[in-house]
Amino acid sequence: MGYVFVDSSKVVYHFGPDISPVAHAKLGDIICFETLDCFSNQISSENQLVTNIDFSKVNPATGPVHIEGVERGDVLVVKILDIETRNWGVIVTAPGYGVLGDKVKSARTKICEIREDKFVYFTGKGFANFVGLKLPYRPMIGVIGVAYEEKIPCGVPGKHGGNMDTKLITKGTTVYLPVFKDGALLGIGDLHAVMGDGEVCVAGCEVSGKVLVTTDVIKGKSIPWPIVETDDAFYLIVSLEDINKALYEATDLAVRILQHSLALDWNEAYMIASMIVDIQISQLVDPAKTVRARIPKGYVSLTKILEALSKT
Ligand code: CA
Ligand code: ZN
Repeated sequence: MGYVFVDSSKVVYHFGPDISPVAHAKLGDIICFETLDCFSNQISSENQLVTNIDFSKVNPATGPVHIEGVERGDVLVVKILDIETRNWGVIVTAPGYGVLGDKVKSARTKICEIREDKFVYFTGKGFANFVGLKLPYRPMIGVIGVAYEEKIPCGVPGKHGGNMDTKLITKGTTVYLPVFKDGALLGIGDLHAVMGDGEVCVAGCEVSGKVLVTTDVIKGKSIPWPIVETDDAFYLIVSLEDINKALYEATDLAVRILQHSLALDWNEAYMIASMIVDIQISQLVDPAKTVRARIPKGYVSLTKILEALSKT
């Protein structure tokens, strides 16, 4: 197995049919994506406001990487092996930004230190003597996606993945993405040192870093939306402009999966879903909102999920 390194000078700002690979990898290779933060590292002090940066350089994804043996109509399997970040992060807000954008009076930037003790310090670089608030360091991937049929900015999540801002996408997680183009063309960016579900003020603790992944493929099975697998559950990740439609779609898919996996009639599957499925929010602040349906392992297997989703 080989090792492929993709440096952070090789970025795309959209996932579209015309993006061209900057590297090639074989299934099973270890791929290291060196990533910029979501502002392309334009903000490094608290004097720099998000309202003044070059927005054509927001949400870069490092890559894309062509994965050999992966074709349109397959499922790309991406296992997240490790995430490393730089030792400081940036969080911003501004009038109109986030869930409570109407209440924000002025733009603000905070720099947070990430110390050896694996905590994120909400103090700012200029406050070395001030202890501030210690937040848990939980590095995660905001943007992970593949080339889509239409040009879609990296800031927008969708069926191809993209800016899903799902805090579960971290070390040890497996992400399943539908493949729209031969080679998949995988891109990764927008790491956060810590982020809460919703990402309410518009940003997490934004960091640059490195992500190690390895890939596999599932041939001839299609999935309508990305799926995330953790130790104890599968999550269907649905992103739509209208959050109510996203909630409907995620619930509908979960019920279909339970119906097929447990050989139930639809009403029974609906009832089971009501008792064991958790409908959760990933983020509320991107152009499409991201929700997820959590199905605990034990009721379903990956094989059954793929079977259920392949038959429409
Ligand atoms: Ca993001
Ligand atoms: Zn971000």
